[in-house]
Amino acid sequence: MEKGQIWIVATVVNLQLEKEWSYLGCKRCSKKVDKIGSKFHCKKCDRLDSSATHRYKLQVQVMDRTGFISLLLWDREATILIGKSADELNEISIEPRFYLIIWLDKKCLSRE
Ligand SMILES: [Zn+2]
Repeated sequence: MEKGQIWIVATVVNLQLEKEWSYLGCKRCSKKVDKIGSKFHCKKCDRLDSSATHRYKLQVQVMDRTGFISLLLWDREATILIGKSADELNEISIEPRFYLIIWLDKKCLSRE
C-alpha cells in the first residue's frame, strides 16, 4: 500500500464527546504538557511555562455516500470548523460540550 495524503469530503454526523475533546498544550510547539505544581512542562521543548493553551483533539464520526468513519480532528482543523479556539470555548461556556453539541445540531439543520 502506498502512503500519502488523501482528501475526503464528508459530513460530520457525530462528535464523540465522551472521550476527551481537548488537551493542554505547549504555547510554543503545541505538544501536550504535564502539569507540575502550578507550572506546565513540555517534554519536547524541555521548558516550564506558567501557562498552557487548550487545544482540540476532537474525535468525530463523518459520513459520505460510501460509508461512515471515525476521525480525529486536531487543533487547526477543529478551530476552522467550529469557528472558535478550544481556549475561547473553555472561557465562554460553562459546559463547552453543550456548545459543541449545539454547534453540531446547527450544522445538521442548516444542511436541509
Ligand atoms: Zn513545547
